[in-house]
Amino acid sequence: MSDLKYCQGPECHQHTTQDRLKGMKGNKTYQTRRRSSFYYGNGNFCSMWCYNDWFGKFGDRAIDHYGRTTEPKKLTEQNAWTKTYRWDYERRNGEAQHYYLNKITKEQRPLTEAQYNDTSYTINTGE
Ligand SMILES: [Zn+2]
Repeated sequence: MSDLKYCQGPECHQHTTQDRLKGMKGNKTYQTRRRSSFYYGNGNFCSMWCYNDWFGKFGDRAIDHYGRTTEPKKLTEQNAWTKTYRWDYERRNGEAQHYYLNKITKEQRPLTEAQYNDTSYTINTGE
């Protein structure tokens, strides 16, 4: 199979489990896990252990490369709108009522279901 991939954990082969042990007697090695899919770190790691190993070894460099947060990000009244919905049992079909909720002011504004589902539709301004 060509779609097998290796766990990206730098120490994966050091976690000496039976499934990592390969080879014939006298020529055995523990090897990095190889699978068609993994469940951790966007499918890159076989376990949280390997995911944490990667971050321990490369995390600081990755953060520096992509931009370290050096001042607080701020949720303001202008960008605190979040899409949500509630079930309205008073309505004939009991269908979901979609609305915008401002997480700071608690103001609510009506949303159509189409606007709710449109991931590019927003009334937020700024980050
Ligand atoms: Zn692994």
